[in-house]
Amino acid sequence: MTDVSLLWDQHACLPLQPDADVGELTRYSRDGPAFVSVNAGYSPHSFADSSRLLDHYRRSIDGHPGMAVAATVHDVARIAESGRIAVAFDLEDSGPLDGDLENLRRFAELGVRTMLPTYNHENRAGGGCLDSYDRGLTAWGRNLVTEMNAVGMVPDGSHCSARTGLDMCDISTGPVVYSHSCMRSVWQHPRNITDEQARACADTGGVVGITGVGIFLGPNTPTLDAMIEHLEYAVELVGAEHVGVSTDFSFDAADFLRESRTNPGLFDDSYTRWGPIQWMPPEVFLRLGTRLRDRGWADADITAVLGGNFCRVAETSW
Ligand SMILES: [Zn+2]
Repeated sequence: MTDVSLLWDQHACLPLQPDADVGELTRYSRDGPAFVSVNAGYSPHSFADSSRLLDHYRRSIDGHPGMAVAATVHDVARIAESGRIAVAFDLEDSGPLDGDLENLRRFAELGVRTMLPTYNHENRAGGGCLDSYDRGLTAWGRNLVTEMNAVGMVPDGSHCSARTGLDMCDISTGPVVYSHSCMRSVWQHPRNITDEQARACADTGGVVGITGVGIFLGPNTPTLDAMIEHLEYAVELVGAEHVGVSTDFSFDAADFLRESRTNPGLFDDSYTRWGPIQWMPPEVFLRLGTRLRDRGWADADITAVLGGNFCRVAETSW
């Protein structure tokens, strides 16, 4: 059966290099509309680094016949109708702001639509999920969330400490998402979120994006079955209108390994104990809708989880 509902991958990773080949994104090509949010930097990056990456990605994507950058949800629909893949950007960590909230608006103008304040370890904005203590969102972090709401950027709790995520949900006037976080009740991993975090996110109108990373789904098992176990748990907990998907796919695993070697302090044994991280490739991800239908999911729930929900958040926030 043809799957024509929108597929929305809320987070994927091209090599963080200003000569990265964006052509890899055509791996999302399908018989139906597709959107992907591409990461444009994380905690080690400066404003100049991420701006340079965004310049490169934007120029290359708009110069490629199979894809285009979407600034609005209307753009996503228009680009998808022409058979191309729609792309927007996200940032992991507030480090690329160089401490200047004015840079949020500049990033928004360059197409960044989602940002998480803290990547694994505490910074000026808040706590990280790998810290042994949890002080939550700081005063500066609160200003950051308020300014993100103002410029149309969606606050993202992935990689943050639980308290930081909950604080963001308290303070944000728009939906808060977890772009790429699985359920800790299904698989005990510090990068996965608690039921309380998922409920608070849903209360903002937000979406929990179950992600295709082996070590977050189970013992390094990036399979559709493992993803569906997390999806079904999350749907039962917060309802199908608050659950989405992402791959967190690293198009160049060597690039991720290089990053983890260059910045070993950002990762710990919870990332390395199962050997090289395994990701769900787009080709497998594209089969998720069919598998959910085979599981007996209702069409409306499949449409919502594959993309309708994240698209709703974008419509409200961008
Ligand atoms: Zn991440």
